[in-house]
Amino acid sequence: MDNRYKPVIGLEIHVQLNTKTKAFCDCSAEVFDLEPNSSICPICTGHPGTLPVPSGEMFKLGIKVASALNCQINLYSRFDRKNYFYPDLPKGYQITQFFHPLAEFGWLEVNGKKVHIRRIHLEEDAGKLIHSGDSITESDYSLVDMNRCGVPLAEIVTEPDIESPEQARVFMEKLRAILRYIDASTGDMEKGAMRCDANISVVDTVTGKQSNKVEVKNMNSFKFVEKALEYEFERIIGLMENEQEVDRETRGWNLATKSTVSMRSKEEAHDYRYFPEPDIPPVLLDSEYVEKIKQSLPELPDKRLKRFMESYKLPERDAWTLVEDKQIADFFEEVVSQTKEPKETANWFLTEYFRLIGEHGEDKIHVTSRHFVELFRLMKDGKISRNMAKEVFQESALSRKMPAEIVKEKGLEQVDDSKLIEEIAKKVIENHPKEVETFRSGKEGLFGFFVGQVMKETRGKANPKVVNEILDKLLRGS
Ligand code: ADP
Ligand code: ZN
Ligand code: MG
Repeated sequence: MDNRYKPVIGLEIHVQLNTKTKAFCDCSAEVFDLEPNSSICPICTGHPGTLPVPSGEMFKLGIKVASALNCQINLYSRFDRKNYFYPDLPKGYQITQFFHPLAEFGWLEVNGKKVHIRRIHLEEDAGKLIHSGDSITESDYSLVDMNRCGVPLAEIVTEPDIESPEQARVFMEKLRAILRYIDASTGDMEKGAMRCDANISVVDTVTGKQSNKVEVKNMNSFKFVEKALEYEFERIIGLMENEQEVDRETRGWNLATKSTVSMRSKEEAHDYRYFPEPDIPPVLLDSEYVEKIKQSLPELPDKRLKRFMESYKLPERDAWTLVEDKQIADFFEEVVSQTKEPKETANWFLTEYFRLIGEHGEDKIHVTSRHFVELFRLMKDGKISRNMAKEVFQESALSRKMPAEIVKEKGLEQVDDSKLIEEIAKKVIENHPKEVETFRSGKEGLFGFFVGQVMKETRGKANPKVVNEILDKLLRGS
């Protein structure tokens, strides 16, 4: 019974906001790859007697994220202390928003279904431990890098509305596209700028029983979010089938073994002894300010996707590939506005353009809308065939030269001089008397053979249309 068990999934996603400075001090928040402990100060490392001051930029970006996710924004929000001990947390508590989050009640559409956002709150990141040796259990000592302490995060908590591991991945992909569109975060999971804790429980649809939920951490790519959830789904089903208890716990994704391992039993909110942060007054937002930020948002990926599908008549997959990256989407639209051929332009983007970027890297490829316009014109005027166009496109993208220049330089110009083609065709006919005889006795299929011979003689440069006409005249006498 394949469909007997159904997964119930909810995500908690930490997003690093693109601010210049940290959440409560002036240290730079761009700390990836920095010398350890080079972007810290008494505030973000929690020295006694220092006072945190919330960053306005953090709120601005938080409001952008919340608006883009259709949330209700709370004009009154407040910070709280979440108390716990860990060596990467010098203060002994994390400043977060527990009782009064920045935003609530949002949603994001995934596969035509709304995944509800329970809340979005602002908080600071903790530091990082660097363990000696290969693994935490075998290391002799650990080093602390506090650069990430105080880096501003928005935590996005969904309702358990997600119905499959695949949907969880799509949710993450959509979310990242949005974050990048509104310039709120780089969304790079590989660099820790976006992290996902995935919660999953399983419902037995026959008995109606629902398992405890398990939280999985440490996936550093979208693919692994999906894989870890698939693994966990199967593991929980196994336990349920054997009538074993599913522990309420936090598990870690292990990349090497492609499995999850128990990290700790799940802590409860009261374990953290949350209480209002006494050093930061509540934050009161001005509704006009919030409205202004909302109005400043660009057209978001979902809306753009629908528009691409409708106005350019593109299938959803193709449209999303073009929409996902804002720069690509903007460039595509610029090109279409010049070529006026959305379908053909999309084709060139999805095949040749992306292939070149994939093979040579984005910074090596130099194409402007003028390149496309000129390339399309060369094809339309019969100057080059479609196959040649691909070669010309590649050459011009790599050399910064215009397509016409490449055509000229390489002598690629298609031969549509009918005199010349006729001469060559006559020669071909002369050299293949047997084939001519067979053709004339009714073997029409041989026509392609003659076309091929003429093309070969011209090294593919003859205009196929002209070749066809001439051969038709010479062979069929029409
Ligand atoms: P906890 O009390 O364990 O912190 P919460 O209710 O605060 O749980 O929810 C934390 C996350 O777990 C949310 O993303 C939520 O969607 C998800 N979640 C809650 N209940 C379930 C469940 N039964 N199955 C899967 N995920 C769940
Ligand atoms: Zn600092
Ligand atoms: Mg909770």
